[in-house]
Order: sequence, then C-alpha cells, then structure tokens
Amino acid sequence: MIIPTEPIGSIPRPLDLIEAMQEVADGRMTATQIEPLYVDAIRDTIARFEATGSPVISDGEQRKVHNFATYCVHGLPNFAPDGFHLQFTDHDRIWPRLTSGPFRYRQRADTYLRDALDLARLPVKQAVISPSALSLMYPADDLPDYPRDQFITDLLREHEDEVRGCLRLGADSVQVDFTEGRLAVKLDPTGHLLNSFIHLNNLALGQFSTEDRRRISVHTCPGGDCDTTHSADADYADLLPSLFELKAGRFMVALAREPDRIRVLKMIRDHIKADQQVFVGVIDPLDPVIETPETVRDRVLEAAEFIPLHQLGTTDDCGFSPFSDDTSTSRDTAFAKIRSRVEGTALAAAALGRSRG
Ligand SMILES: [Zn+2]
Repeated sequence: MIIPTEPIGSIPRPLDLIEAMQEVADGRMTATQIEPLYVDAIRDTIARFEATGSPVISDGEQRKVHNFATYCVHGLPNFAPDGFHLQFTDHDRIWPRLTSGPFRYRQRADTYLRDALDLARLPVKQAVISPSALSLMYPADDLPDYPRDQFITDLLREHEDEVRGCLRLGADSVQVDFTEGRLAVKLDPTGHLLNSFIHLNNLALGQFSTEDRRRISVHTCPGGDCDTTHSADADYADLLPSLFELKAGRFMVALAREPDRIRVLKMIRDHIKADQQVFVGVIDPLDPVIETPETVRDRVLEAAEFIPLHQLGTTDDCGFSPFSDDTSTSRDTAFAKIRSRVEGTALAAAALGRSRG
C-alpha cells in the first residue's frame, strides 16, 4: 500500500541569496550578478529534496520574489507598494496595488518549473497564486479607464495561461495557493467575501478539463510567516464546506497545528466529494521541533479513520518559507521535517497494509 505524499512548495532560501536579493532591491547588485546564486540555490534545493526520499518535489520557490503571491507582478511599473495589508499576529505583509491597467504577469511560474525539470530526476509540482489573491490587488475604487470587470477578465486569462503552461511542461500537479480562503472567513464573517473568492476561482477552474483538474490542487492554510499565522482563529467549519465546492481534484489542507484535528477530519469526511483527494498536513512548519516519523505515522493513522484511503495523502501544513526573506526556519530543519513526513507516511501505509490484509 502507498499513501501519496508531497510538499506544499517553499523552502527557506540560502542566506547568501537572501542578502543578494536585498542588494538587488537596494540597487547595489544587478539581475545578472544575482543569477548564479539563484542557479546554485535551485540546484542545491532539488538535490536535497531528492535526498529526502520525497516522491514528488518542488524547486523550493527559490525564484519567487518576494513571496508566493506577488511574484508574478514583481517589478511592474503599474503597481504601488501600498495595497492590501495581510495581517499576521504580530506584523503585516503589504500587497502591491494596481495603479492602472492593463493587468499582466511579468513572471510566470511555468518558467520556474522549466528550470526545475531540467535538474530534477523526480516528478516536480508547481505552486501558483490563486485568482482570488490577485483580486486583492485591485483598489477599492474603480480605476479610470480600467474597470474591475476588465481586470478580472485579464487576471483569469493570465492565471489560466500560467496553469496551462505548467501542465503542458509536465508538472506532476499544479497547486493553487488559497491562503486567503481562511482569511476571508475572519475578515468577513457573513461569508460574502469567501463566496466571491470561491466563485472567482471556480471561473478559473471551470476552464479546465476533468482530466486537467485531477492534476490541479488547492492549498488552504492559516498563513505562515516568521512562525506566525494570519487566520488560525478562523473556524474551519466556516471554510471547509465551501472549499470542497471548488472544482479541483486535490486539496492540501493544513491540519497538524489544529488544536482539534478529529473535529476537522470529520468535517473533511462530511464534505469531500467522491472524485476529490485530500492531502492532510502532518508536519507543522512553524514548530521548530522536528516531528519524528512515529508522530507522523500516528497522525496519518488518525486521518485514515475518517478519510477513505484511496482519497488520502499527506503534506506539510504550509510552505517552509512562503516569504523569501523569512529566516525563522533553517533549510536543515525544513528538509529534516520533510524526511520525517516521507518516512512516517510510509510507516502508516505499512501498518494499514498489515491491518487490512
Ligand atoms: Zn500555506
């Protein structure tokens, strides 16, 4: 018996790369000068990922500047730095704000994937940002000459092109990062904001065939930056029924850090559809303690009590460094945790195989 397991995506960047990224931002280093550091970071990340035994890997999002969400528009002239405030428990991260049309990507994740596939021997997944997160870049008041409807049309096309580019290159799967789903529950308890996000993301997912959607996943989490979250206090009960309405084949659900995992597993059991898979988080990237394989095994066995085995996989609760300058977790710790996830998931599969004959 095999239980699938895969990462979310990000791995902490090497410290010399983080310093160089700051020097580029300050104008003390050029894009040409930093390029060898990116190449080294990606090569090292893929080699270390493969050494963990993980059957699916990522490039660790080494090239995503500054984070998992705004990489695609970083460096564009029609953005101001003072947009949406993503509020973590003790600090804010601020999104760029669109100042004029048209909305276009400057970087697409399929270009990152192409580099990774050149170096990797194992299947590679690719994370992309959701349309709903990008929708937060449009200002509250409509822009003159670039109405919101046109913006939505443009962003859906950019997103679709990015996902299709990844699928075409041979991504093992394409993961849509939807951290703002749980945040929406907190920001708007009426549920209106979450419903609008689900609707928008389903417009995007609806463009893909059933076969493609089996390779598209959606990641939900309460955020993870500098060992803090933005919406862990928002109740999963207000999110999960809507989450499984998304027309995706796989869901990557943060679970390890939840205070009452059984309650969440029951909700997943009650709302997951027959043609959907759920990869539950069995590693907490915000906890400096490295989980043992036995701890992971027990979490998987717990999940298997509620989720049919053919629909169950495991993952990490979140990326290890969704923001490129986050140094709260070391690369060594991240890879050690991944190794525990892989080994613990295999231990659980073996135990389930024995118990079910
Ligand atoms: Zn996450």
